[in-house]
Parts: sequence; structure tokens; C-alpha cells
Amino acid sequence: MSDHEKRHQIRRHMIIGDGVTAAAFSECCTLKPGDELIVIGNNATRLGRGLAYAAEPQETPWQFAYLLNSPAEDIDPDFGPWLEKNWASLCEKMQGRRLNWLAAAQTFVDKGDIKGLNVPRAFLGDFIEERTKVALTKLQQNGVKVRLINSTAIAIMETINGFRVKTSDNQHHCADTVDIATGGPETQRIDGDDSTFSASTLFGNEARIAEHIQKGSEIFCIGMNATMLDVLRLCQSLLPEDQIRLTACSPRGSLPEPLIPQLPRKIMRPNLKGPYPTAESFLAAVQENIQSARKNGLQMGELRSGFRAYFTEHGLKSLIPNIDEARKVPNTLRHWFRGGTRDTIMDFKRLNATGSTKIIRGSVKAIEVMESGANVILKNGTGMMIRHKTGFVINCSGAGSQFDFDPLTRSLIDQKWITICAQSGGIAVGEGCRTQVTGLRYLSPATTVIGDEVMPMPLYDAHLLRTQVFRT
Ligand SMILES: Cc1cc2nc3c(=O)[nH]c(=O)nc-3n(C[C@H](O)[C@H](O)[C@H](O)COP(=O)(O)OP(=O)(O)OC[C@H]3O[C@@H](n4cnc5c(N)ncnc54)[C@H](O)[C@@H]3O)c2cc1C
Repeated sequence: MSDHEKRHQIRRHMIIGDGVTAAAFSECCTLKPGDELIVIGNNATRLGRGLAYAAEPQETPWQFAYLLNSPAEDIDPDFGPWLEKNWASLCEKMQGRRLNWLAAAQTFVDKGDIKGLNVPRAFLGDFIEERTKVALTKLQQNGVKVRLINSTAIAIMETINGFRVKTSDNQHHCADTVDIATGGPETQRIDGDDSTFSASTLFGNEARIAEHIQKGSEIFCIGMNATMLDVLRLCQSLLPEDQIRLTACSPRGSLPEPLIPQLPRKIMRPNLKGPYPTAESFLAAVQENIQSARKNGLQMGELRSGFRAYFTEHGLKSLIPNIDEARKVPNTLRHWFRGGTRDTIMDFKRLNATGSTKIIRGSVKAIEVMESGANVILKNGTGMMIRHKTGFVINCSGAGSQFDFDPLTRSLIDQKWITICAQSGGIAVGEGCRTQVTGLRYLSPATTVIGDEVMPMPLYDAHLLRTQVFRT
């Protein structure tokens, strides 16, 4: 075989993104000796952390404040054993912090239930980064050239024999095949959410927000899901609890149910006798299962993980063969299985009893910046428009229904390489995460349809994303 022929057999595979999904793509790529793997991401050299499990670049009071929403064993089957093995070094890092997570964890540790803990998200980042490094080293030992490029892909073009990707540092990189995993959409914007007294997101704005927390200002969160719970953790890492003033507002005015793994473990095994002709008949059967499980003492932790495992094994297609009917289901399931970080939800409730945290039922329309502080303009639970005077406002309202995707994802949509699902507003890709262009795959937490399978539960879930990648 000539050198020319050999060169043409060499495959160059590219992954764009540096989070859990990109890491999973790198773990299951099937490259041969002589092939090349290129990873492009803002933090590609720490592949696997992405946005959610990033490491704070410097020591801060909130460095390890943010917790995983689920117990470790639910995030990844290998994460619990990893935690047990690394427990001593984790304890060392968590010593002497105002927010005494170790003390809160102790009752579970005493019962031998480390894998049932909601641990700081940065530690999941450590675990994934470590696992990914092992996989990349194996590839290298097998003769694959691995290049990790810390940069942002700003454009992707199809070429005669693959793809050319331009990065923000004005470089071009070519590949035969590409996997894109650039993460979920941005938080929806609310009028006035980026000012001296407001932030359009918590992440990256902590230092500025911390000044207001430490001054004793009231912190107003728009939204009552995971990010609001992170704001409470930020407050707890900075102030004694009796000085915290946190108000959270959402249309329902309700907290998610805490995900608590009971001891001894209880397991939810759904009993669904499909196929169901309509979304309605399917949802009725799911609700019946939920009610009877609740009667038997099961809680949201078990319900959610039990149904998640069931749907992963069976898929919605086998339960509701009509895809139009199947597409009606995820929105309802998302509400039924809404759960969150045990520690923080319980803290919020405890502090609510003493007035440190407050709940307002309402829908925020805009934020007015004042000379000192802000006015939140909202329609309250009785339908009245009111102005709530506060110290600092943080937009924790999530992606909303009009997803604001990252620029690369938007360009794929514009070129019709991937499509938007009319029902969910999420992304639809082909079987195996394939796009309309041969050699290009795409997966992000906002993906709601893969091939003819509708995702019953949102993919804003490290375990589900990894599972989907390993199926490709
Ligand atoms: C703050 C937060 C907390 C969360 N907590 C949990 C939790 O506790 N449990 C859970 O299961 N799930 C959680 N999630 C859901 C989370 O979305 C998934 O678990 C998972 O981390 C998503 O991984 P990803 O790789 O698809 O996306 P991301 O983690 O968002 O990674 C995508 C990466 O791609 C990079 N990127 C974007 N555009 C480009 C480009 N053009 N070129 C190169 N790189 C690019 C981004 O900078 C980003 O780092 C959380 C999400 C967030 C945002």
C-alpha cells in the first residue's frame, strides 16, 4: 500500500464541546492506530467538566457550595464507588468552610451511605475528568493521536471529504467526522436583568453578587428551581444563616420535591402494560403507578430513578407507538418528576420558618433599576401587578420555551442539519444522534427527539446524556 493510500485510510474525528456529553463521545470513539482525535472546547484540556461541573479557578468561599441535584449513585453507577475511594481527600477539601457540608453529610456517612449523598458538583467534575483522561490515554497508547484544543468553534463547513471547523483564534481544523456537544440553551432574558442591581445568570457573577449578599441586601431570585437553590448555597457560604435574606418567586411558588434515597433502599418498578393508543391513556397509567407507589412509602427519589431506568430500558416508542401522541408526554412527566437537591431544599424550608427565605407566587415581567437596589415588577398570585423593592435580582428562570441556543447549534438549525421539534421546542436529531449531514452527530441536553424516539424525561441529566451517547 502506498503512503498516499495509507494517508487516506487515516481517520480524523473531531468532538466540539468539553462537557459530560463530549467526554462520553470521546470514550466511545472507535479510532484505530494512526487515526486522530481532535477535541475543541473552552476547557478541552479538562474534558468532561463542561459548564455544570467546572472547577473554580481560584479559592473562594463558594468554591464547593453547589451540589448535585441527585444522590451520587443516581448520577453515574461508578461515581459512588469513586467517592468512597476518594472520601478522605474530599473531606480535606471541605474542612473549615462556613457552609459545613461535611457535618450535614455525617449522618449518611455514619450509616455507610456515601453514595447516597448529594455531593458538590465540582467533585463529579473531578471524577469525569479523571475517567476521561484514562480513556484518552488508552487511545494514545493504541496509537491514536489526541489533540485537545482550548478554543471555541465558531463555524463548521462541509468539505468534499468531511468538515472544516473555524475556531475563535482564527484557526481551521479539518476532520472526516464530527460530534457536536455544545450544551443546553442560555437562561431566558428578562427585561432589566443585567444591571448594577441584577444579573442575567448566577454563574460567573458570584463575586459581584457576593458583595450584595455580604452587605445584607435582600437577594431576589426569579425562578425556584436548581439555580435558585444554588443561590441559597452561595448565601450560606458567605453569611451566618440568620443574616440571609433570600426571596424566591415563581408562578407556582413551590419548591421541587427533595430527592432522598431511603435506607434501606426502596426500588420503584413501574408496571405499564402498553402499548397505549394516546398520551392521555399512557399518562393515566403512569399516574396510577405513582399513586400506588406513594401509598407504599416511595418518594420522589425512588419514583424518578425507577421511571428513568424503565424508560431507558423500554423507550417511549414501545409504550406509545404513535409519535405525535408520544410527543405530548414529556412536558407532563417533567412536572410529575420534578425533584431537586435534598440538602438545599430542606435548608430553604428550615430558613423559611425563621423568615430568612421567603416565597412569592407570581410571574416576573421586568426589573427596574433604582438608585440603590431594584424594583421587581410582577403579576402576583391574585393577578395583580405589583412592584417588589429589593436589593439585588438574579435571573434563575431557566431556558423558558423560546430556547436561546449557542451560536454553533443555531447555525446547524439555520442550515437545517438539525431541526426543532414543533411540540417541545427542543432539538430533533436522527437515529444514533445523526444529523442531516453524513458524518456529523449532535447531542445536547435540549435534545428531545432521537430518531423515532421521543425522550420521555429531559436530558438535563448527566446519566441520560451518557446513556444516549453509548447507544449511538
Ligand atoms: C449549573 C448546572 C447544574 C446542573 N446540575 C446537574 C446535576 O446536578 N445533575 C445532573 O444530572 N445534571 C445537571 N445539570 C444538567 C447538565 O446539563 C447535564 O448534566 C450535563 O452536564 C450537560 O453536559 P453537556 O456536555 O451536554 O453540556 P455542558 O456541560 O453545557 O458542556 C458543553 C460545553 O461545550 C462548550 N461549548 C459551547 N459552545 C462551544 C463551541 N462553539 N465550541 C467549543 N465548545 C463549546 C461550553 O463552553 C460547555 O463547556 C446541570 C446543568 C447546569 C447548567
